[in-house]
Amino acid sequence: MNWEKVMGLEVHLQLSTHSKIFSSSATAFGADANTQTNPLDMALPGTLPVLNHAAVSQAIVFGLGVGAEIGKVSRFDRKNYFYPDLPKGYQISQFFEPIVKEGVFDVPLEDGSIFPVRILRAHLEEDAGKSVHDAIPGHTGIDLNRAGTPLLEVVTEPDFRTAEQVVAYLKALHALVTYLGISDGNMSEGSMRCDVNLSLRLEGETEYGTRTELKNINSFRFIERAIHVEAERQQDLLESGQSVVQETRLFDPDKDETRSMRSKEVANDYRYFPDPDLLPIVIDDATIERIRDALPELPAVKRGRYTTELGLSQYDANLLTQDRATAEFFEACCATSNNPKATANWMLGDLSAALNKEGLAICGCKVTPEGLGLLIKRIDDGTLSSKMAKTVFEGLWAGEPDVDRIIEDKGLKQVSDSGALETIVDDLIANNPAQVDQYRAADEGKQKKLIGFFVGQAMKASKGQANPQLLNQLLKQKLG
Ligand code: ADP
Ligand code: MG
Repeated sequence: MNWEKVMGLEVHLQLSTHSKIFSSSATAFGADANTQTNPLDMALPGTLPVLNHAAVSQAIVFGLGVGAEIGKVSRFDRKNYFYPDLPKGYQISQFFEPIVKEGVFDVPLEDGSIFPVRILRAHLEEDAGKSVHDAIPGHTGIDLNRAGTPLLEVVTEPDFRTAEQVVAYLKALHALVTYLGISDGNMSEGSMRCDVNLSLRLEGETEYGTRTELKNINSFRFIERAIHVEAERQQDLLESGQSVVQETRLFDPDKDETRSMRSKEVANDYRYFPDPDLLPIVIDDATIERIRDALPELPAVKRGRYTTELGLSQYDANLLTQDRATAEFFEACCATSNNPKATANWMLGDLSAALNKEGLAICGCKVTPEGLGLLIKRIDDGTLSSKMAKTVFEGLWAGEPDVDRIIEDKGLKQVSDSGALETIVDDLIANNPAQVDQYRAADEGKQKKLIGFFVGQAMKASKGQANPQLLNQLLKQKLG
């Protein structure tokens, strides 16, 4: 039987505000436990929340980034449940009226095509604290540093059919929020957390099946694996005549299985109701337009510009716009090289190989965009052959700052001076009369092979520095 996967995603993005969504405590990652808390985060009686406007602006920025409608009036609601890391006994979220409504987000796929994902909503909420199990022997501690950190939960329609689409969406979302500067999208620090809702149906079926929700999978690799493992589990159930129970499940990468966390039958009734301590958020058109005007160029627009204006392939444009730092490096490099195609080739070839080899991201790159740009310029103006350029690149990577200096110091200049090359060619012809006669007697096809001998000798004589095009031209002329 042919089963089709149906998936919808809920992604929690930690917004990059300096302070919390309802208090003035700092949000920085990695501080000592409970050093970034104040009476409100600890839920002491008598404290009242004060909305952080930066979180609201960032949510609007996101909404505009995915072409969504912005909720002119949105509200905060209380989601009631008990857990030790939530001292208030409720989480403040937006249930009934979210700040971001429907939108469509275009996701580039590996093959260069575009996969449109329907965004259902995105709402603001506060994060909870954290239980700490390994700090005090025999006890569990509570760290409230994270309590009240602003989150934007982005919910999609169940539009995904393959794990590749899911991963492509997450990568594009990561790119978008880092371009927009509203989240660092750091998965390992929990700034981007993903829940995958998954159900199966027989191919051709129009109704959706019963779904399970896979919680908090924190790497792209695990997401692909979790989807695969959970789909197999559901398929086994369905094919043996059992049914899927709607529940939340946890992926265990060590055991390579998903486990039930809580099922919907015994799940909490959250008893949502509007938070009486917070006023509705009212956003006027002028505010939306002011924020829209200040948006940076978005990845989708950049991708389009790279293919139409700069003549790059869709594939290269996708790779170069995958994150903001890479696109900025590329554009800075082009400003010097004036050659977008060669710049793309160098960045996706030698540069990316060098970065991968040392496990570096583009921000840790040891070559400046100006350095690489000048290197490309020196190839284009005939100073460097492509082989020499690799040597110069190695020099730059090793920390030598100046392209022209490396060319000078290593004596890498290509000989493009026709006078100097002419002398070499004349000497060659004078010293190899037998080969010259053989060449002159040969037909055109054979000549093409025989000229290799002269090119090799001339290269040797010029210590590998002869400009190959010029050399070929001179040889043909003088031998002919
Ligand atoms: P809840 O609030 O209980 O999590 P939602 O209706 O908000 O439920 O849906 C959450 C996510 O589940 C959405 O991303 C949605 O696209 C996805 N989803 C809903 N139904 C299905 C289904 N049958 N199969 C897969 N995903 C689904
Ligand atoms: Mg859910």
